[in-house]
Amino acid sequence: MTVLNGEDEVVELCRDLIRIDSTNAGDNAGPGERAAAEYVAEKLAEVGLEPRILESDDRRANVVARIAGEDSSRDALLLHGHLDVVPFNADDWTHHPLSGEIADDCVWGRGAVDMKDMDAMILAVVRQRLSQGRRPPRDVVLAFTADEEAGGTYGAQWLSEKHPDLFEGCTEAIGEVGGFSVSIDEARRLYLIETAEKGIAWMRLTAHGRAGHGSMLNSENAVTELAEAVGRIGRYEWPVRLTQTVKTFLNEVSANLNLEFDPDDAEATVAKLGPLARMIGATLRNTANPTMLAGGYKANVIPQTATAHVDGRFLPGHEEEFFATIDELLGPNVTREFVYHDIAIETGFDGPLVRAMADALVAEDPGALAVPYTLSGGTDLKAFSRLGMRGFGFAPLRLPADLDFSGMFHGVDERVPVDSLRFGVRVLDRFLDAC
Ligand SMILES: [Zn+2]
Repeated sequence: MTVLNGEDEVVELCRDLIRIDSTNAGDNAGPGERAAAEYVAEKLAEVGLEPRILESDDRRANVVARIAGEDSSRDALLLHGHLDVVPFNADDWTHHPLSGEIADDCVWGRGAVDMKDMDAMILAVVRQRLSQGRRPPRDVVLAFTADEEAGGTYGAQWLSEKHPDLFEGCTEAIGEVGGFSVSIDEARRLYLIETAEKGIAWMRLTAHGRAGHGSMLNSENAVTELAEAVGRIGRYEWPVRLTQTVKTFLNEVSANLNLEFDPDDAEATVAKLGPLARMIGATLRNTANPTMLAGGYKANVIPQTATAHVDGRFLPGHEEEFFATIDELLGPNVTREFVYHDIAIETGFDGPLVRAMADALVAEDPGALAVPYTLSGGTDLKAFSRLGMRGFGFAPLRLPADLDFSGMFHGVDERVPVDSLRFGVRVLDRFLDAC
């Protein structure tokens, strides 16, 4: 077999994937992930793997492959990436989001950041290693999933429910939204490794009252009841709750940045983090934001019901407290039901796999400092965690100091520097040596 160079391949792999339209608007009516899955499967088959394409619905395709490690008796590691991307409005972009254009030393397009970059890095490093006959020390399962952007119903959730056997032996998982650098100064960079995710509670609230004429007295007005409940929830100041991940993050960062960390005033520390404050600030407490309102149909008719939607996010270990508070704020005449509900997850920033990530980063960037953080949203990791895996967001990228990377997730002009992709391949290669 020809020896392949992952650093050379990664850019073309990323561009090819971007050019394959796999937009997912959440309605199961888009192009699906089939074409992207076939591309990935072909690239894996070329280096001797036997990838399986698994369709959960028409064109909703996932790819899973297993690499036999040197010691298959050890627990296996899962590397996962999603193949779908969120929709776009091409007119807003400098370069067409399906072009995979290279400009200003970056690859441009929808998915360049979330997460065809990491898909390409996984493909490149696996192809390089297998073409050189370099197996990982233990079994590595690769999963390229559908539907992450709409909750994983046709992707990670479906795979873990219908095909758990494909993940036999996997106890640890590496996926998205982590491992990228945030510059402290010329010499030092934080690399944020995701070790926790907030839980999700999208709720529909309904106030039930007594319908009637708008000119009459009515003490059971559903609109009034609902408005008061929404106001209470929206204005509620959730108390700061420092989870293990946030504590470790703040300790590490304040020690290295010479910031003072007062555990009784974590917000003051976070406020000093510049652009990072937006990301980290949301992980200090539960949140619940009213997002939609509906009720009534005529100015002189009091409706029987009124509804609202609330986007709730709870910290690992604080789900019970979250719902107890919500129920208190709702009051007796407003009920809630879930539109979407998913767990919070958290794992420690310790153990050999964490060391392997941190060491691989330092080997390629001597100014790297790996720190754990909590993602305020959710990823496929929630589904895989149900199979007993502890998981990390680790898609390693060394980024220029002035690039607003976290702002590009689902944003306009998504782009990833070519050098960052090459860096990622080198780091993942070292990581797989030590995993
Ligand atoms: Zn993503």
